[in-house]
Amino acid sequence: MPASIPHPRRPGRRHPAPRRRAEPPAIGFVSLGCAKALVDSERILTRLKAEGYAIAPSYEGADLVVVNTCGFLLSARAESLEAIGEALAENGKVVVTGCLGAEPERIKEAYPEVLAVTGPHQTEAVLEAIHAHLPPPHAPFLELVPRQGLKLTPRHYAYLKVSEGCRNRCSFCIIPKLRGDLVSRPLTEVLDEAEALVAAGVKEILVISQDTSAYGLDRRYEPTVWRGRTLETRLLDLCRELGRLGVWVRLHYAYPYPHVDAVIPLMAEGTILPYLDIPFQHASPRILKAMRRPAAAERTLERIREWRRICPELAIRSTFIVGFPGETEADFEELLAFLEEARLDRVGCFTFEPVEGAAANALPDPVPEELKEERRARLMALQERISAERLAARVGRVEPVLVDGVDEEGRTIARSRLDAPEVDGRVILAAADPIPPGTLLDARITGSDAHDLFGEPSD
Ligand code: SF4
Repeated sequence: MPASIPHPRRPGRRHPAPRRRAEPPAIGFVSLGCAKALVDSERILTRLKAEGYAIAPSYEGADLVVVNTCGFLLSARAESLEAIGEALAENGKVVVTGCLGAEPERIKEAYPEVLAVTGPHQTEAVLEAIHAHLPPPHAPFLELVPRQGLKLTPRHYAYLKVSEGCRNRCSFCIIPKLRGDLVSRPLTEVLDEAEALVAAGVKEILVISQDTSAYGLDRRYEPTVWRGRTLETRLLDLCRELGRLGVWVRLHYAYPYPHVDAVIPLMAEGTILPYLDIPFQHASPRILKAMRRPAAAERTLERIREWRRICPELAIRSTFIVGFPGETEADFEELLAFLEEARLDRVGCFTFEPVEGAAANALPDPVPEELKEERRARLMALQERISAERLAARVGRVEPVLVDGVDEEGRTIARSRLDAPEVDGRVILAAADPIPPGTLLDARITGSDAHDLFGEPSD
């Protein structure tokens, strides 16, 4: 489901209605895929707005539609192709970008009528294609662009992408092929963006990239000066400076490298949130090696124990792949034992999918689909118990929460510091009146289930 500008799927005019001369050309936008793709969409939209284009909320109000695709899993590719087909049927003028755009021949074969295809994070190429088919107005309305750029997330939280690409070569993944090697953004640029977000009212910054722990490595941790302070382009300095902005700062996609240990004290002292999103993917050393995972040789359980000693509140989120080629029952049992021991807070689990072009597809001993599903169900059942226990242990506490909105039943939905938006659980508040999104308040936790907490505003 596209996650950007609302674009109702109701049948519309196949081709846009003629516009009055004074109206700026309008772009419809469909954004698919992960938070990193969402940030690419925000960048393209910001540039379009700066050039004077209008952003259309529906297909029929658009002169041209951009579809930012995802190409990671087979299901995501199918969804992307479907979205392109829908945009063509509803509007007729379509430019495709994003991860699936790295394979233009696949898109052109399915839809020869698309106007142009560009790859991931190719903002300039997308703009060129748009200019060629829908020239920008003569007078750009630069003042219409907020300093923080256009955001597709609610006003109170925002993703901050610190690098592009990835220097790792996990055997099940084609991201480095699609997005290239690691390119870290300059630290001052990242901090300027973060500052602008906070000035615009953002209360929570979610730091993302393909491998956040690798931030700055390609720049050899180059020194720089920001606000009179000499800093190094590395994770620790990034976290410390973001922590000074006075908002929640949450780290996604880190790996258990030794240098990540250095940010845990920042979590313990409250500079950044006590939260780490680490995609471990497996626990059997044999499978991790076959997966070519970064930090596979690190003593992960020991490291988690030490992190929790320094920061007892630390919440860890992770994802795992079961049914990787060659995974035996013993490997899988090792993974379950790891989960019992690690007692992670939130876990997602996928069955191995042979993504076209991934090295892992050539590995022997594929696991039958039925067995993959069975393992996934066993893993999730175990984790559900662990997550429920960890949530139950918080009942009775008073915790700061950030209000995200109101659900269909009129209940106020908030989030604790230990939960990221969209992927983790919620704190469902019993409040007499709805509380505006973006409000920070203390809540007394009164109950829990396997996913969510229940609470009430605390006086
Ligand atoms: S760390 Fe591995 S899984 Fe993640 S993007 Fe890089 S290669 Fe892919």
